[in-house]
Amino acid sequence: MANILFGRDPARLLRTNIHGRVQGLVDRGLTPCLRTVRVGDDDAAAGYVRGIGRAGQRVGVNVENDLLPSNTSSEEVVEHMHRLNTNDSVHGIFLAVPFPDQIEEAVVVDSLVANKDVDRVSSTALGELMTGRVKIGPATAAAVVEMLDFAGEQIEGRSVTIIGRSNVVGRPLWTMLLDRHATVTVCHTRTADLPSVTASAEILVVAAGHPGLIGAEHVGTDAVVLDVGTNYENGNLVGDVKFDEVEPLVRLITPVPGGIGPLTNYCLMRNLVNLVERTL
Ligand code: NAD
Repeated sequence: MANILFGRDPARLLRTNIHGRVQGLVDRGLTPCLRTVRVGDDDAAAGYVRGIGRAGQRVGVNVENDLLPSNTSSEEVVEHMHRLNTNDSVHGIFLAVPFPDQIEEAVVVDSLVANKDVDRVSSTALGELMTGRVKIGPATAAAVVEMLDFAGEQIEGRSVTIIGRSNVVGRPLWTMLLDRHATVTVCHTRTADLPSVTASAEILVVAAGHPGLIGAEHVGTDAVVLDVGTNYENGNLVGDVKFDEVEPLVRLITPVPGGIGPLTNYCLMRNLVNLVERTL
């Protein structure tokens, strides 16, 4: 039987720590303000914005939400971004994706100025992470590292396999774990024989968005398994790992819901505070 790593305990610690840092900024006359930008009425995007609002309230950050109509063009969203980029009362900007189809997501994302890009998704912010110029990573990737640290899992020298190579999770996490001196393998849809790669990992991070992808044949007996997957099946939130099948075999595992998810928005708030503190 594995030990189950719940997100609520590290989330509580992180919340207390960030609340203290925000208080320090407020005492200096600066209340951090995070602006979310959503286009249209996508349910997932609306859910992210609600979660961010709750986390902001708990740490003392002002969260303001912009909702642009669903027929907004890419150019109009970029113009909106330029206004926020140059607005001194806005310290961080979060783009709530998915956007409607007519929006060129990469163009909008790259119109975000890096020093306000709280989720570190723009090319500049990712480049800064990869080169080590600014070591602030996307919130979800940061939540994985935070969970390992909270669990007391050494990262240096360990073999870590990540499933997924997206710009928001897999790639930045690869960089963040390399920076912590892990030996990192990244798998993806064209990985030949996934179980043969993943079964030897000491730490397995699954961020594929594919419910039930990982079963008994994918894990080693002493493994630590972190499930980033957030999928809805028949209205239920499920991860990428067959929890009931994998949990008895491994040493540590995160559940979905209740694992990585609760940490993510506090990692986003920490990014905001880090970005604000860099300007002082
Ligand atoms: P994405 O679709 O952009 O990328 C998925 C990656 O997984 C791709 O690189 C793909 O190659 C790989 N992949 C997909 N199916 C695979 C398979 N069968 N075998 C091997 N590799 C496979 O997704 P994303 O934005 O990186 O998100 C991944 C998951 O993490 C999703 O479930 C998403 O909802 C979740 N997520 C959770 C949080 C959170 O706060 N907990 C935040 C962001 C994303």
